[in-house]
Amino acid sequence: MKRIIRPAVIALLLLLMSGTITAPLHSKPEVKYVASRIRAPFHYLSCEWAKRISPENVVYYTTREEAIKAGHRPCRICNP
Ligand SMILES: [Zn+2]
Repeated sequence: MKRIIRPAVIALLLLLMSGTITAPLHSKPEVKYVASRIRAPFHYLSCEWAKRISPENVVYYTTREEAIKAGHRPCRICNP
């Protein structure tokens, strides 16, 4: 059980932290995009699909270019 819970808790903490950090600093180049290592689309952190990425495969990007260079494409839902 602990092995299953722990990554989920870490992911939740990361989401909470990134939310509180990016919200007041909208103009600064903080982490804005998130993708899964094993899937093509990348998302805004707020995208509902971003929250479904497995914590083991999650990757964060600060710019679209970074995500695209890493082989990702913009999500069709949140259109980052
Ligand atoms: Zn998305």
